Amino acid sequence: MNELDQLRQWISDSSNIVFFGGAGVSTESGIPDFRSVDGLYNQTYAYPPETIISHSFYRKNPEEFYRFYKDRMLFPDAKPNAAHRALAKLEKLGKLRAVITQNIDGLHQMAGSKEVLELHGSVHRNYCTRCNKFYSLEDIMAMDGVPHCTCGGIVKPDVVLYEEGLDDQVMQKSVDYIRHADLLIIGGTSLVVYPAAGLVNYYKGNRLVVINKSITPMDSEADLVASGKIGEVFSQIMEI
Ligand code: NAD
Repeated sequence: MNELDQLRQWISDSSNIVFFGGAGVSTESGIPDFRSVDGLYNQTYAYPPETIISHSFYRKNPEEFYRFYKDRMLFPDAKPNAAHRALAKLEKLGKLRAVITQNIDGLHQMAGSKEVLELHGSVHRNYCTRCNKFYSLEDIMAMDGVPHCTCGGIVKPDVVLYEEGLDDQVMQKSVDYIRHADLLIIGGTSLVVYPAAGLVNYYKGNRLVVINKSITPMDSEADLVASGKIGEVFSQIMEI
């Protein structure tokens, strides 16, 4: 049996699938990832992207942070692709329990997924750092430069910046889902951003699948590796 037939069979047998993904899930929606050759890290800026989207940089240079963030990290017109839609469908069919994502773009929810654990937050939630008032992505986009609240405070995206910790409850829930999964599908992630990437080590089953365009550190441990674009892989194994 080839990889895709095997994956189709495992999905058909399973009722406890968990998906763990990253930026590669959204590249087919036109959102660049960080580490592909045409990704954000291979483009030139005055500072490396890791520096700009760090907590200390945001505190010291909010103007420069927001210039980069609005220009390179917000894609308000992006739409879910076949991978997002396939995962939403598997949840609806009662096969998939949760999508655990490092993405901040909200495309899984837009595709109809309900149980989405956002390890790194979301561009769709923004809060005043002084009075905690909520602002939508559209609100942020409509404000020039650094967005300010009506109270005068700076509005900060609910996105986990480098140097910031992850939400304990989201982490714990992710561990629980992965521990109890019978099929874990890892897709579109370089698995180099910690602590998120370490979560996949909680999987104890024997159906660990990696779907990625390039090699990952989990390939050698995976029970099945499907190389390619994740939207195309899902389109080949199921009706979306
Ligand atoms: P990454 O850029 O480090 O790695 C992306 C991986 O996906 C690479 O291995 C690449 O080869 C693969 N890939 C790219 N397109 C693919 C496709 N169509 N099909 C299959 N594989 C594909 O991304 P990461 O591992 O998620 O970690 C980096 C951080 O990037 C995360 O913390 C995340 O918050 C942030 N990020 C998010 C978005 C988003 O929300 N869409 C976009 C850029 C970066």
